[in-house]
Amino acid sequence: MEKSISKKAYAKVNLSLDIVGRREDGYHLVRMVMQSLDIADDLVFERLDTPKIEVLLNGNVGDGSEMNSEATSGDKNLGRVPLDEDNLIYKVARLMLEQHVWKRQPDAGVRITLTKNIPIAAGMAGGSSDAAATFRGINELFEVSLLDKDLMDMGVTLGADIPYCIMGGTALSEGIGEELTRLPELPDCYFLVAKPPISVSTGEAYGGYDKLISEIEASEDKGKKKVKSPDVDGQVDAIYSGDLQGVADRFLNVLEYVTAENHPEIKELERIMLEGGAINSMMSGSGPTVFGMYDSLEAAEASYRKIVDEKKANQVFITKAV
Ligand code: ATP
Repeated sequence: MEKSISKKAYAKVNLSLDIVGRREDGYHLVRMVMQSLDIADDLVFERLDTPKIEVLLNGNVGDGSEMNSEATSGDKNLGRVPLDEDNLIYKVARLMLEQHVWKRQPDAGVRITLTKNIPIAAGMAGGSSDAAATFRGINELFEVSLLDKDLMDMGVTLGADIPYCIMGGTALSEGIGEELTRLPELPDCYFLVAKPPISVSTGEAYGGYDKLISEIEASEDKGKKKVKSPDVDGQVDAIYSGDLQGVADRFLNVLEYVTAENHPEIKELERIMLEGGAINSMMSGSGPTVFGMYDSLEAAEASYRKIVDEKKANQVFITKAV
């Protein structure tokens, strides 16, 4: 058995996001196309010979209050990562050890060291992706031999995006996030990703969307104010036919109606990307991260420089799909 192993936890963006209903327990039912990007946290798992779980943090994690003037890829990360039992890494480790390790190896423990590069509370599933990497890491380190399907079933009990983060790549996510269909890889392209220095809570974004829908339903001019839904099926078809323009033409995220209303920075970033030659741009998840899809690296670099020079975002990356 190895004494230590490393795993990468990749960030995701949504290429479309629709809310199609609500379950009785309050969870929103979604239809969305997910894409993992080559922006990743690093996790190192070390076996200990006492039955404890340690989560350590490497690197520079700010308190969310400062604006970093040097907007470079991932050298500052705003927000807070809890290191106690609230951390998803800790929750996953405890679940895996309690259910699958301690019965056979009662003295086993684990130290997990996280190097955070994914922007926090950004709509990029950083916490869920760390959780997914922890399922895989512990499964391998302790030779538990669970299948991805088993890890996904356990994962959804801790977070709706965790099953997708275990799968990775390009996928259609339905239900609350547990019904996944793997899709073909996107045609070659570049992603410019920019997180403005504002925090958005996922819960508030979904709550704001529910409120918006109730207001629309109560208003007299229902037709006029109606929020548009993304053509998720059309986007999936475009992915199957390798039609990048068709994928980008169908970028639409219903949570953007809520988050962009409160934060004009989002439309501003989208405008810079579009004027700089992005095929299209959109907010990811509950925001506030905005991304542009480009077929030219030069155009992505020019938009990157404009965003950095004008201090529109403090975490900016040029990356590719993985
Ligand atoms: P999503 O796209 O799934 O809504 P997000 O990118 O908006 O996620 P996260 O970065 O996952 O948001 O963090 C949301 C909150 O979760 C953080 O403010 C933090 O308190 C908590 N959290 C718990 N574990 C982690 C973790 N390992 N990394 C980051 N945040 C974590």
